[in-house]
Amino acid sequence: MSIVDLTSMGEAQTQLRKEINERLARLQDEHSDYCFQCAKCTSGCEAHKLLELEPHRMVALLKRGLIDEMMNSDVIWACMSCFKCRERCPQKVAPVEILFALKNLAVASGKQIPGNYTAWLQSVLSIGLLQEVKSVSTRDNKTKTRADLGLPDASKPTDPMKFQTMLSKLAVEKV
Ligand code: SF4
Ligand code: SF4
Repeated sequence: MSIVDLTSMGEAQTQLRKEINERLARLQDEHSDYCFQCAKCTSGCEAHKLLELEPHRMVALLKRGLIDEMMNSDVIWACMSCFKCRERCPQKVAPVEILFALKNLAVASGKQIPGNYTAWLQSVLSIGLLQEVKSVSTRDNKTKTRADLGLPDASKPTDPMKFQTMLSKLAVEKV
């Protein structure tokens, strides 16, 4: 569901807005109020080109405290975490961090998350990586492994159980 139905928008959720802004301030002294809606973030957003994600709009909705409207939208899961919005912002606002906070809140409140996230999480828990290391194809159609490219083996957790416990502790960190 996209965030286009303005008629369904509810009351401002001031406490959640405060918590998200506190997270931004803790991270890099950022605050959504610094945003002046120039949309430089959206013009460089990789997810905007293919999907409906408009980072500048997310910041505007956060300023209004419309957190549920964002959390209930699939759009928040379209972010690729490329951090371009943070790099491009002249006001030091980081829409990507707002999206991280919204995704954490969505998971904490038991909302349905896209299936591929569950598969990635399962993979991280079992091998410490989003997916098994793959070979790459060169322009002249040759297949190269990490070893062929002179790269070391990708490291994996030596003690998977300990690794999973550590990850679980990190996951419960608030917003
Ligand atoms: S680039 Fe920064 S100031 Fe401009 S709209 Fe995006 S968040 Fe707001
Ligand atoms: S981090 Fe997410 S929101 Fe920011 S530019 Fe990249 S895809 Fe867009």
